[in-house]
Amino acid sequence: MDNKIKAVMFDSKPYDVESFADKLKAAGISTKFIEAKLNEDTVELAKDCGAVIVFVNDDLSAPVIDKLWKMGVKLVALRCAGFNNVDVRAAFGKLHVVRVPAYSPYAVAEHAMAMLLTSIRRIHKAYNRTKDFNFSLSGLTGTDLHGKTVGVVGTGKIGKVFIDICRGFGMEVLAYDPFPDEKSGINYVSLEELFKKSDIISLHCPLTKDTKHIINSDSVEMMKKGVVLVNTSRGGLIDSDALLEGIKSRKIGAACLDVYEEESDIFFEDRSGHIMNDDLLARLVTMPNVLITSHQAFLTKEALENIAETTVENISKFFNQNETCNEICYQCGKAEKCRKMRSQKCF
Ligand code: NAD
Repeated sequence: MDNKIKAVMFDSKPYDVESFADKLKAAGISTKFIEAKLNEDTVELAKDCGAVIVFVNDDLSAPVIDKLWKMGVKLVALRCAGFNNVDVRAAFGKLHVVRVPAYSPYAVAEHAMAMLLTSIRRIHKAYNRTKDFNFSLSGLTGTDLHGKTVGVVGTGKIGKVFIDICRGFGMEVLAYDPFPDEKSGINYVSLEELFKKSDIISLHCPLTKDTKHIINSDSVEMMKKGVVLVNTSRGGLIDSDALLEGIKSRKIGAACLDVYEEESDIFFEDRSGHIMNDDLLARLVTMPNVLITSHQAFLTKEALENIAETTVENISKFFNQNETCNEICYQCGKAEKCRKMRSQKCF
């Protein structure tokens, strides 16, 4: 067995160790599991490692990338799909960045529907009541999903699964995507029409400079009164101040949030014994029509298994076969100049 590959996993949780440890060992990758997130203060922990294995809230800004590169790290292996936390321009030419483009679109789409159903059928309230032997139904009136219009922003892998689930409920589906899948039979409309006509809006697009605050005070203004917002993609898609105002003015009827703009120092940890310094989050948590989960949508056994399998394969192929599988695109939209298509590596 080749034990020369050394890696460090940042922000590792017990479920990561459980899904990764055996696979990494079997592939000959000796790995340190570290609870701390990667940032400028912790980057030294990657000393002597060829690869760093990171997650959604690890900091891969230019200074961290530069330090990793100077320490001799060759590969950043994201154990997630999104890479909005990576300064891709800073990485190009220095560190190869690979990811897990798909692990279970079902996990995220099903979580989005679970949150939607919980919210509109008041399951979270009913659960707490019956635990206290309160069997009253007052205040638990819900709404049918059948016949409602759902607007889906982003019709990639997760968006499409979510659309299928919604169709199963007898919902009308409108969608917006700058790259529509014309053969899918999905009813694409402009973003404005989607905002105006939807009873429920679910976000399934990546966080980019074009999509940051795609939900803002102007878009909320266009929406139907009582609209339900579902965000299982990235917190930065929603301007949290506009969300709060929309809820306070009763324009937004409910919000289901698996992600939050300022989640990086809060989510994934037990903060129950601490004073919450984020006033906006504290306010949202108190609202009866806001349901928050802690970036949990990906967390199924199947997804964890697939994430570990692809990540280990990405690292193994890079070091053993000099090949970058699932490398992110550092210069999107320049396919004709794409070196990787010719040589298997971007640089
Ligand atoms: P995907 O790449 O398959 O699909 C993304 C879609 O968004 C594409 O069709 C793309 O054309 C579209 N898009 C790009 N720019 C857009 C814009 N301006 N407006 C509308 N649509 C736009 O990605 P996916 O696997 O479906 O994942 C979607 C997102 O879900 C990821 O980017 C990630 O942020 C999020 N995610 C969250 C979790 C979680 O645990 N909460 C887990 C996995 C992924």
